[in-house]
Amino acid sequence: MEYYIADSAVFIMGSGIEPYRIITIPSVVNELKSSEAAMRFDLARESGARVEMPEDSFREKVMQTANKTRDCEELSSTDIDILAKALEYKGNSVLLTDDYAVQNVAKVLGLEVKPVAQKKIKDVLVWQKQCTGCRKKFDSGDICPVCGSPLKKRRKRKI
Ligand SMILES: [Zn+2]
Repeated sequence: MEYYIADSAVFIMGSGIEPYRIITIPSVVNELKSSEAAMRFDLARESGARVEMPEDSFREKVMQTANKTRDCEELSSTDIDILAKALEYKGNSVLLTDDYAVQNVAKVLGLEVKPVAQKKIKDVLVWQKQCTGCRKKFDSGDICPVCGSPLKKRRKRKI
């Protein structure tokens, strides 16, 4: 059976997935702030959704990969946990997340990833430029005024 490793977005936005195929982690559950999302989670849990602790060995591997891709600064502890859980079920799971940095690391780890839903209007995406050399962030420009390396466009979520 294929499992769906669920990020908080699954419970915030809702999804049409059979609850018994959903696996999530304790830190995702703790982050569900709206009562609507918490209620969706409770319903899924009652219908067989599982909450599992991530294993340290998989967290370790995720952090090593995130360091290589330089996504480490963007990842929260919850992000690392959810990636670790998806890695544990690699080849047998789809990671559901709308988080850009999580999607990026997941791809490098060879995990199957799907976005949960279209962005809601309140999720405004802001573009930022980041230096490919010194990693400093700027609002605009093409060349880093600090080290002279080219700047790359990045998106940043602002709610
Ligand atoms: Zn620079």
